[in-house]
Amino acid sequence: MTHETAYAPQNAWKTYTQQEENNQGKDIFALARRYLDFLSQCKTERETIAYVQKKLTEAGFSLDFSQNAAMRPLRGKAIFAARKGRLPLGQGIHLIAAHVDTPRLDLKQRPLIEQAQVAQAKTHYYGGIRKYQWLARPLALHGVLIREDGETVRLTLGENPHEPVFTIADLLPHLAQKQNTRTVAEAFEAEKLNLLMGHCPASPAGEEKCQEPIKSQILQLLADKYHICEEDFISAELQAVPAGPARFVGLDKGLIGGYGQDDRICVFTALEAFLNVQEPEHATAIIFWDKEEIGSEGATGAASRFFNYCMEDLSSAWEPQTRLSHVLLSSMALSADVQAALDPDYQDVHEKQNAALLGHGPCFSKFTGSRGKYGASEADAEYLGWLRSLFNAQNIPWQIAECGKVDQGGGGTVALFLAAYGLRVIDIGPAVLSMHSPFEISSTVDLYATTQAYTTFYKA
Ligand code: MN
Ligand code: MN
Repeated sequence: MTHETAYAPQNAWKTYTQQEENNQGKDIFALARRYLDFLSQCKTERETIAYVQKKLTEAGFSLDFSQNAAMRPLRGKAIFAARKGRLPLGQGIHLIAAHVDTPRLDLKQRPLIEQAQVAQAKTHYYGGIRKYQWLARPLALHGVLIREDGETVRLTLGENPHEPVFTIADLLPHLAQKQNTRTVAEAFEAEKLNLLMGHCPASPAGEEKCQEPIKSQILQLLADKYHICEEDFISAELQAVPAGPARFVGLDKGLIGGYGQDDRICVFTALEAFLNVQEPEHATAIIFWDKEEIGSEGATGAASRFFNYCMEDLSSAWEPQTRLSHVLLSSMALSADVQAALDPDYQDVHEKQNAALLGHGPCFSKFTGSRGKYGASEADAEYLGWLRSLFNAQNIPWQIAECGKVDQGGGGTVALFLAAYGLRVIDIGPAVLSMHSPFEISSTVDLYATTQAYTTFYKA
């Protein structure tokens, strides 16, 4: 730790190579490769929670809260886990929260239509997307359908190179003259985000009876292969997501590109850290919520009572004599979510001294919100002071930023839902470029630095 009078965030690549050179470099890329596999595999909240639950189970976590390492999933879309510390629960827990949902295109409940010689699936977008980014690119379908007999049919179509993909056609430039004069908000209509599903009409015998031979053929294929019918789409959650794996970006592999890094980079790093620290001082916990991208409402979102119920059961199993409010008021949390990285080509939307830089470690956000911190839960200076000193002592690179210039826009996280319990909480996570796009970009070294930071928090 230096005692200079001026402050500037440190470049994490320099921090780590200065420290241990080659060995640390190997660790950085080994972690990144595991992260690429995770990102490529987990593209929906259900897939992410299944991954987390599997890892926790392998690490010995039990559904029984009387055990020292316990977990509780909720409807396959949220999960809580906790590990007993050396200190009593009354001294508070160290908790990291993140969200498992990501912007995407959900299929409508009656999605299938046929027009102009193609069958299409109508979509309803989820979360904040820039609609044009989803056009003319390969998309995969992930999700579940619940049949009338109660059977769950799991679908993942378009990830295996041998499988077909889906796509949304875009207008050709030759005929886009009128569209080119509109604003971006007006030019791309949500009702035109229709997935190409098929093109071959049903056999002639069927065609005679059938108004929509291409749609019929699609339904026939689905019936043959998955034993599902059109009504099954009504009780389904099917998501169109970018097809294909996450990749390193750049000649030096210094960047990671992939769908859903907001907020799966925090899910991955928080879980790594949580599992790394096997004998913590304070009890440790993770909670991964769904629905953050649409306001955190719903049974599996952060605004629900799920965390409260888990903590009630945990404290009555581990330390019934201590009041839950006492446990919560003594606890510390990190709201692990990504921050907008300074965009090299749109630097004017940022205020540079308070912008997050790729490769400078996880980024604190003291508050989120918009228009005069409206809607924010602001962390207190004391908590930030304690964390800064904790990370400096371990030489972990970190930085602090706001999301863009004041009055430029803004956003929110799950921090305020945790702050409602009176525990100390602050946002901290890696910087991301192209946030909410089908191919988000993070820094390979920030993945490593963030894992180190979360691990240090759990050990503290
Ligand atoms: Mn997020
Ligand atoms: Mn987001």
